[in-house]
Amino acid sequence: MAVSECPACTYHIPVGNLQEGDTIKCPDCGVLLKLVRAFPPIFEEVQEG
Ligand SMILES: [Zn+2]
Repeated sequence: MAVSECPACTYHIPVGNLQEGDTIKCPDCGVLLKLVRAFPPIFEEVQEG
């Protein structure tokens, strides 16, 4: 399964069946991330507010 690093804590997050543009919370540090690119998978921190 594809994984990509959390940009905040470098935890390796399984991408699973996420689509480009989907958001997920990092299971390690809890930051909100968006999958900005599906292949190769790249997570980017979402700035809330
Ligand atoms: Zn994290």
